[in-house]
Amino acid sequence: LIKMIGERALVLNRLAEIIEKNRDDLIALEVFEVGKTWSEADGDITEAIDFLKYYARDILRVGVSERVGHVPGEVSLYHYRPRGVTAVIAPWNFPLAILTGMVSAAIVTGNTVVMKPAEQSTIIAWKLMEMLQEAGCPKGVVNFLPGLGEDVGAYLVDHKDVATISFTGSKAVGLDILNKASTVRPGQKSLKRCIIEMGGKNAVIIDSDADLDEAVAGVIYSAFAFQGQKCSAASRIVVLDSIYDRFLDRLVEAAKSLHVGPGSDPKSFYTAVIDEESQKRILSMIESAKSTSRMVFQGEVPPTGYYVPHTIFADVQPDADIAHQELFGPVLAVIRAKDIDEAIHIVNSVEYGLTGGIYSRSPNNIERARQEIEVGNLYINRSITGALVNRHPFGGYKMSGLGSKTGGPDYLKQYMEPRVSTENTMRRGFAPSEES
Ligand code: NAD
Repeated sequence: LIKMIGERALVLNRLAEIIEKNRDDLIALEVFEVGKTWSEADGDITEAIDFLKYYARDILRVGVSERVGHVPGEVSLYHYRPRGVTAVIAPWNFPLAILTGMVSAAIVTGNTVVMKPAEQSTIIAWKLMEMLQEAGCPKGVVNFLPGLGEDVGAYLVDHKDVATISFTGSKAVGLDILNKASTVRPGQKSLKRCIIEMGGKNAVIIDSDADLDEAVAGVIYSAFAFQGQKCSAASRIVVLDSIYDRFLDRLVEAAKSLHVGPGSDPKSFYTAVIDEESQKRILSMIESAKSTSRMVFQGEVPPTGYYVPHTIFADVQPDADIAHQELFGPVLAVIRAKDIDEAIHIVNSVEYGLTGGIYSRSPNNIERARQEIEVGNLYINRSITGALVNRHPFGGYKMSGLGSKTGGPDYLKQYMEPRVSTENTMRRGFAPSEES
């Protein structure tokens, strides 16, 4: 096992080099296949490389046996074994990074993988498969299986030989997978473990003493970069009453400055959403929000393509649909709070717990946010997207996820089974070896 893990770590490192070598082509592919801007695509490629280097390094820490107990006359070794076949079911929004992260974690821990990418990013996933082969990944270790989630994904989830399901995607699909994976199929040998990362309804608090230069820029980027299609994107801004009007004026002015157009144009801040279905869904949610909240800004977008204009609603009631449902588009709900207590209460009132943030200069309120805001990743006085592997291990709880954080010290362990062997070493001599 140690030898195999060492070989797989080498595959990961070689793959990182190959991705680096192909960086420009991969960026171009992401611009055209999923509508990233250049810089967003570059971020995705970089994250994939970071995952590979981090997991290749971390397995050398996690993969070795550890002696526990330290009682004379007894040796207990704590060690991990692979679990078996891992079904990797991935989303399209970080088409290389998330897929690479899940696949590399599964293989470097000694498992085999059936890789089911999102329908919308199949070509990038195929590129990953080619690069895995080039990196010397042994035949049969990773198996590329594109197709519709409802067919291929569901088949994998139900399959008796799948031991682990590593899923990143929407709450609806994640919960469905959890439900189905708990049913034991005829011939199934082990319980399925689900590593499930889902959506968010992420909020940023703007405290009364916030630095508005930083807050406005951070909110614009967190909400509208990549068309708001990041699980970590800001979609609720909770502003303290005393600074509300000033912040809103400046936010709207900043929103006016965004250039919208094709991802291939380096001027574009954001571009079209992933497909027509998404466009229709987000536009219809904007329409229905108009009847309950005050729309204070809507951008202009090119006439053709699946564009959704970035839109800001103000005076949104904390229980409104746009303050609760994940839209996964460039739509922002600004909510007024009378004080920090109410602001924290509003932030925590949703079912999700993925990312969140606060802009504040009050050490007391910053500490309260750290202690009381229910999110997996809290960002203070900075944008709330763009987690970096190892520096910001990433993942949520509540209805946002079930797994340990990606790019963090507990992640690889989920793909393995911990075992302990306990040996009584108080023996009276050893049996002679056969040679002697
Ligand atoms: P999705 O849930 O529609 O699809 C994700 C994957 O599941 C795809 O491969 C899809 O084909 C597959 N799938 C669909 N139906 C299935 C079924 N019945 N059984 C098995 N598999 C099925 O999500 P998406 O639109 O690709 O991605 C956007 C969502 O992902 C958002 O909700 C976003 O917040 C979330 N997300 C979360 C994280 C995180 O780290 N928490 C990261 C990225 C995206």
